[in-house]
Amino acid sequence: ANKLGSKKERTLAMIKPDAVTKVGDVIQMIYDANLIVTKAKMTKLTGKQAADFYMEHQSKSFFNNLVQFVSSGPIIVMELMGDEAVSVWRKVLGPTDSGVARKDVPASLRAQFGTDGTKNAGHGSDSLASAARELEFFFPSTTGHGPTNTAKYQDS
Ligand code: ADP
Ligand code: MG
Repeated sequence: ANKLGSKKERTLAMIKPDAVTKVGDVIQMIYDANLIVTKAKMTKLTGKQAADFYMEHQSKSFFNNLVQFVSSGPIIVMELMGDEAVSVWRKVLGPTDSGVARKDVPASLRAQFGTDGTKNAGHGSDSLASAARELEFFFPSTTGHGPTNTAKYQDS
């Protein structure tokens, strides 16, 4: 934290394929949460890229459905910045399961734009370490990593 008590963070936000057309509403929610968009692009993941992005979940029963869903159409990924951006963005998203979100946090992004437990409109990094990895995944550094920096993700 700086001397004003704020803790500027960066996080990776994704609008999943089911909510890409709601990008205007999502930008409004980002603005209302006092976060700013510092990078953004629309793209589409291959199944392999989606599996790589979600590798922490590879042993889960929902993994195949998740990979299929997130690679099923265009997505929008953004770098968000602001005070406590990691937790603030996850709060905007709401509960993982859109059904639960509609019951418990009806104003949340997943309540408004998600469908079910897998098709849930958005993603947010769950920690600063995840944010660093996920931002590098979608917005790879072009300097400072030496010759071993091969971008995992490339537009195609
Ligand atoms: P979050 O996205 O809230 O961080 P997780 O990291 O636990 O949630 O899961 C990653 C994604 O996998 C979720 O956003 C959702 O799309 C899907 N998912 C998580 N849990 C389930 C589940 N129990 N059944 C189906 N899909 C799930
Ligand atoms: Mg997660």
